[in-house]
Amino acid sequence: MATLFHNGRFFQSGTKGEGHSFVDAMLVDESGKIADAGSINDESILAAEKTGVTKHDVNGRIVLPGFIDGHMHFLMLGQSLQKAGLEACKNLQDIRQTIKEFAATHPSVARILCKGWMHSMTNGEALASTIDDLDPRPMIFPVNSFNSFIDSKDLHSTWCNSAALKELGVQDMADPEGGKIHRDENGKASGLLSEAAAVTIVWPHIAKVAPMEEKLAALKGAVAAYNASGYTGLVDMAMDENAWEALQILRQRERLPVRIAVHWLITPQKTEAENLAQVDRAIELNRQFNMENSPDCRVVGIKVIGDGIIDGCTAGLSEPYTSNGISCDPIWSLAELGPVVKKADRAGLQCALHAIGDQTIKVAIDALEQNATPGRRHRIEHLELASPEDAKRLGKLGITASIQPVHADPAIVRAWPSLLGPTRCERAFAYKEFADGGAVLALGSDSPTAPHAPLRNAYTATTRRSAREPDSTERFNPQFALDLSATIAAGTEGSAYSCFADRFAGKLEAGRMADFVVVDMDWDANKLLEARILQTWFNGKKVFDKVWNIQ
Ligand SMILES: [Zn+2]
Repeated sequence: MATLFHNGRFFQSGTKGEGHSFVDAMLVDESGKIADAGSINDESILAAEKTGVTKHDVNGRIVLPGFIDGHMHFLMLGQSLQKAGLEACKNLQDIRQTIKEFAATHPSVARILCKGWMHSMTNGEALASTIDDLDPRPMIFPVNSFNSFIDSKDLHSTWCNSAALKELGVQDMADPEGGKIHRDENGKASGLLSEAAAVTIVWPHIAKVAPMEEKLAALKGAVAAYNASGYTGLVDMAMDENAWEALQILRQRERLPVRIAVHWLITPQKTEAENLAQVDRAIELNRQFNMENSPDCRVVGIKVIGDGIIDGCTAGLSEPYTSNGISCDPIWSLAELGPVVKKADRAGLQCALHAIGDQTIKVAIDALEQNATPGRRHRIEHLELASPEDAKRLGKLGITASIQPVHADPAIVRAWPSLLGPTRCERAFAYKEFADGGAVLALGSDSPTAPHAPLRNAYTATTRRSAREPDSTERFNPQFALDLSATIAAGTEGSAYSCFADRFAGKLEAGRMADFVVVDMDWDANKLLEARILQTWFNGKKVFDKVWNIQ
């Protein structure tokens, strides 16, 4: 029997949030598809009522399409939910205390994994020697009993203690392409692994050493956390063999209440042939997992990491960093990136290019302009410091602007004015310009590098204020603020568009799947931090209910 959801405020808008309105009823058919969204007095809804429907009163709440996280890291999110959180730490002393407590309450874990560290908490330092003494217990497994991998907020550098460095085997390893194993004056690895060194050495290692059942539990935990936060879809932005294997095992065991699109991570290698071989693997997987044969779990394209981050002075800028004169080039030159983009594009895959600094953004756009086919919905991730010209090129070239407003939280960019100088800093996170230039925006959280709650993300996008420090009235580049309906659309229809899921999700309209959230909120950007997800529905079935799930 069909279900009639009534007495609600069902969000309707154009693709980019334009002309938004609310209707009061939505009819969902037996298969879980939306049959109609409109007024309770519409003839079609009255007719359906006559033939018999199950009625569901939404109690006057706002109903939004299910959120789709446009950029996140699925297995890592699950694993991060099992880590010690350093988010509240202000300095090294706090960090040491948190690790000590975690170590004491987790006597059986083989490795101590932390999350939430930022360079600023430790004055830019990340030395093994400052945490090596922390575990007082006798070591049962001399190598593994106390390893501390501390992911930075951005996930592009990792701080390790000596036992972790040893387990990773980096002491005698050469720096990988695009990465650095930081060393002391004697050439000994000192604790920090940055960029490709974190991505290609630490991540796969952590992911691999975890037992399969632990990985499956991590993925399930991530799905539950996402449903509870109002998500019914996600785009994984750095899939590899390890996480893919776990995901497929889990999918064979059960149907997951979330729609998944993934971009296969391409890491920079020494030769073009090695780079292209990775694209071949993505193409092979796309042939097996695509819109036609696996719509709810698809390999849609590739992901290339073009640079690092502003705080680590590893984002590729056209002018040196203001505070220290450091110059940093993009990891991939245009000549290296071109063939990778071309091969993926010709095979019908989407390219997602991570580009944070203005120089890298230019290279990424150039690579797409010169090598890609219009209409393939290629995308650029992060876009943190785009020049005015490049901001305009996105829309012109049909490139999706994949943005993560959580990274623009004023509380975590306090070093930017000195790193970039005040004038350049005024260019940061120019979301409004991307939209005005005609680009589709896809909203993401980049979890677990940042908190994933979509309406908190929307708070920073719309107010440019801090969700981390809600009492602060500080606003970061408010000239680039988005309005509320544009932001909601970017986190639903925009993210759906970014992976072609707008064929079946992203909006509350007839023909799409009934993926939606019931929210306790005022339609007011300034009140988004008070908003609460009450229920999440997937395929017309309730998969999260606040009443029954104490969060
Ligand atoms: Zn990411």
